[in-house]
Amino acid sequence: MKIAFFDTKSYWKEFFEPMAKEYGYEITFFNERLTAETAKLAAGHDATCSFVNDEVPAEAIRELHDLGVKVLLLRCAGFDSVDLAVAKECGMPVLRVPAYSPESVAEQGAALLLAVNRKTHLAYERSTKFNFDIAGLEGICLHGRTAGVIGTGKIGQCMINILKGIGMNIIAYDAFPNPNLGLEYVELDELYARSDVITIHCPLMPSTQHMINREAISKMKDGVIFINVARGLLADSEALAEGVESGKIRGIGMDVCEVEHQYFFEDRSNLTEHDPTLARLLSNENVLLSGHLAFLTEEALTAMARVTLDNLKAFEEGKELVNEVK
Ligand code: NAD
Repeated sequence: MKIAFFDTKSYWKEFFEPMAKEYGYEITFFNERLTAETAKLAAGHDATCSFVNDEVPAEAIRELHDLGVKVLLLRCAGFDSVDLAVAKECGMPVLRVPAYSPESVAEQGAALLLAVNRKTHLAYERSTKFNFDIAGLEGICLHGRTAGVIGTGKIGQCMINILKGIGMNIIAYDAFPNPNLGLEYVELDELYARSDVITIHCPLMPSTQHMINREAISKMKDGVIFINVARGLLADSEALAEGVESGKIRGIGMDVCEVEHQYFFEDRSNLTEHDPTLARLLSNENVLLSGHLAFLTEEALTAMARVTLDNLKAFEEGKELVNEVK
């Protein structure tokens, strides 16, 4: 099988190339993102492999189908980039990686929480200039405080374990509470009112888009810390900026942002104009943003490569496609 691999970066090649050899698969690595314009690059390949910021709309799928591509591989969990109806119409299965090291993602959430609270990023900046003045770097002790976790699936549960290790009291909200977790589930308003830290781990859907908005923030405790390693669109960036500027929000740690398609995985430092809301957030020293790298661990990358190639193997051998997006 020949795979056209899009949006290639060094870390993808490092993990996929040797593993593909084990399976006897040949990969062509393209730097380009998959779009309707670049789909033609996949000529002569059996499968495409794309990631979160590739775009696989109807036009691209029809062209891929005409070129003889038989299957669309996603090396990620999210499938919002693919026109599933058209893929189905063309008889092209869409195969994804539903879970890869949720611990890695939660650990990045915890890293952002600890850093933004104890202002590690500011301390680092000062120390590199031999400035060891610690005024202005005050944080709070998380032990004994309350963390509100929204979404108690795979990543939310890993985050809860870390937060419990720190000694935080956990309250949770989930649209589908899991009675087996022994958690104190509360309604969102109560979670907002009681939490010193709020961390969100639910999927992005029309019903969850901008669920963290002005109204939600107004119900939160003064000095709350907000962590988002799920999806940027879950929170209204303008409302976050207002919240952190007014001091209502003590700090924000994010691995995702609303306009990440324009920025992430690339060096955009050469642009002269930036998204004004993102620029506003980043100009606040109590906002710490990492560029969608919560998945970037050896364990997660290995799992992404393994499951992606297993998905293709199952397709090749006509076996049940357990990771097919229906
Ligand atoms: P999961 O499916 O295991 O858990 C999601 C949880 O959210 C479930 O318990 C579900 O019941 C709950 N939920 C659904 N609708 C809800 C709602 N309206 N309000 C509250 N809770 C709701 O998913 P997961 O593996 O834990 O991943 C969570 C999210 O993390 C993903 O949707 C994805 O957006 C994000 N993610 C980010 C990265 C990264 O690199 N930053 C990596 C993987 C996943």
